[in-house]
Amino acid sequence: MQVVAGVDLGGTAVNYTLITGDEKFLIEGLFEHPARSVEGPAVCLQQIEDGLKLALEKAGVAMGQVAVVGLDTPGPASSGGVLSAKGSTNFVHPEWAGFDIRDGLAQKLGKPVTYLNDGNAGALWGHFSIFGGQNKATSISAIIGTGLGGGVIIENQVVKGRKGFGGELGHVLLPYQSIECVKGIVPRCNCGRTGDLESVCSLTAIRMNYLPYFLEKYPNHELAKLGDLGKAAKAVRGLAEKGDEMCREIFRAQAHALGLFFDEMINTFDPDALIVGGGAIETGKEFQEWFVGEIHRGMPEQREEQADIPVYIMPNGDTAGARGAAIEALLVARQGGLI
Ligand SMILES: [Zn+2]
Repeated sequence: MQVVAGVDLGGTAVNYTLITGDEKFLIEGLFEHPARSVEGPAVCLQQIEDGLKLALEKAGVAMGQVAVVGLDTPGPASSGGVLSAKGSTNFVHPEWAGFDIRDGLAQKLGKPVTYLNDGNAGALWGHFSIFGGQNKATSISAIIGTGLGGGVIIENQVVKGRKGFGGELGHVLLPYQSIECVKGIVPRCNCGRTGDLESVCSLTAIRMNYLPYFLEKYPNHELAKLGDLGKAAKAVRGLAEKGDEMCREIFRAQAHALGLFFDEMINTFDPDALIVGGGAIETGKEFQEWFVGEIHRGMPEQREEQADIPVYIMPNGDTAGARGAAIEALLVARQGGLI
């Protein structure tokens, strides 16, 4: 039996999965190994190989059965896996600058390796979770975390773009002035834009834009007493789920922002599915359903033919990267007749 592997290189841990040719995952849940990327490419690639061997052992699969390895990492990187020469927060060691991590891993393992950035890998997993691996569907995934990542899948292919920035959905500008519950807000993003999706829909948005805006209206709120916007931002989701009025408003504003963004995507791609993932909606089902309802309420009215566009919640969020990386490898293995 041939399999493909998915390797999700995160900031502190590498997460692994394995998938068979008939699309069965052989590892359920997280299988992690320390990343050690701060120590540079040589140490990190060795760690990836060591962890892969442990993952294979757990699943009872031999290295010789692995046809292709799919790798995903945080960006910025080219579509082929060359990390930015300017470095990034996740790859601070000087030897990472301009390093071809896809090729480096391919040489280390002696196997073909595919590459996606983590947002695009998550998006491909979201797409697969609905449509499987053989389809011609189009989907847009927005993953709400510290920032806002995601991706565009057209006819089962990840849109990587000319320089690897395809699917950088967080920096798409929105008509944020039309979000009713935050009239007058001026939401800034770390990228320099005002009013892009990340500035109104992310943990960073809560810290930088929503809490300063709302705490003025709710000066006696328990989060005002914390005196630390970073800590307060992390508490918003839990309080929103419990029904706290201010925190619900913050999530309503984020949902309406996503509604505006998805409306732009509906008119650009006429997709089969819209998908939401990430830490923000790792909550109970009731809250997720409320949030999806608010996304729909935040959209301008749709044409009759498009009004039934489904919005899904991405399952298995913590393994999305590894699963998406594995699916990319599976698609490439199929094209090359390797599985
Ligand atoms: Zn931005």
